[in-house]
Amino acid sequence: MGRLTGALNAFSLGSVFVHANVYTCTHLGTPYQGNCNLCRERVAQVTGGTTLCPSEWHKAYPIAQGNRQSPIDIDSARAVYDPSLQPLVISYESCTSLSISNTGHSVMVEFEDTDDRTAISGGPFQNPFRLKQFHFHWGTTHSQGSEHTIDGKPFPCELHLVHWNARKYATFGEAAAAPDGLAVVGVFLEIGKEHASMNRLTDALYMVKFKGTKAQFRGFNPKCLLPSSLDYWTYLGSLTTPPLNESVTWIVLKEPIRISMKQLEKFRMLLFTSEEDQRIQMANNFRPPQPLKGRIVRASFKA
Ligand SMILES: [Zn+2]
Repeated sequence: MGRLTGALNAFSLGSVFVHANVYTCTHLGTPYQGNCNLCRERVAQVTGGTTLCPSEWHKAYPIAQGNRQSPIDIDSARAVYDPSLQPLVISYESCTSLSISNTGHSVMVEFEDTDDRTAISGGPFQNPFRLKQFHFHWGTTHSQGSEHTIDGKPFPCELHLVHWNARKYATFGEAAAAPDGLAVVGVFLEIGKEHASMNRLTDALYMVKFKGTKAQFRGFNPKCLLPSSLDYWTYLGSLTTPPLNESVTWIVLKEPIRISMKQLEKFRMLLFTSEEDQRIQMANNFRPPQPLKGRIVRASFKA
């Protein structure tokens, strides 16, 4: 049950992350000692204040070295076009958003998920998956931020729309622990013109600046955050934050959406820390790509 509670914490306001003052970190492949400016929030509490960077998560979560970990680098030339993959059907017909919150590692918008009004189907899926929440990963600079990379190239930001298999599992927590329980749609964000529909979201960020804060956020339809093409890559992977459950069928959309520099900068105003703590900017809240370990990435489109 401890693991499952951990799974829920990773998605809710409770946090398994703490900050260490001094430790060795190899985040992004660079040996580093001292205060980790790259991954402060990416440290997991083990016992007695011992803290771990992503490269050491396996000490607390052995699954971190498992066979289907996420994110990955998608080598577009090695992805296999699979004509049997169905088009992805995104049925976000109602505006069922509830709240916006600062989880201490991202900003998250949660949805009512008592029925299939806001769900995805088609693609590699046999039944609909309900939207539970979406959140973002971003960098301190535009040269990093996304979790998935394409041909080695990161994007400044990545949106994750997290869905669960409510036909097969009774609760989100149960689905998060099962190999076919979750479906996450990843959308890359790049810098360009202002994204009009994103303003409602970026204008709400000031309300959840501190870790643990939450505000009402109703009537937002995330359909407006999708690109025009739903061409995708798909592979079997995991959550990208502890407890790193290998429960996710990933759908990574090929076409990025664009937001303005000003809009992205509003994400960088958020803090990893609570109001009473010393302020630490929320950014670089991504896990680096993990080994493919023989997995095949399928493409819904011909290269
Ligand atoms: Zn994510």
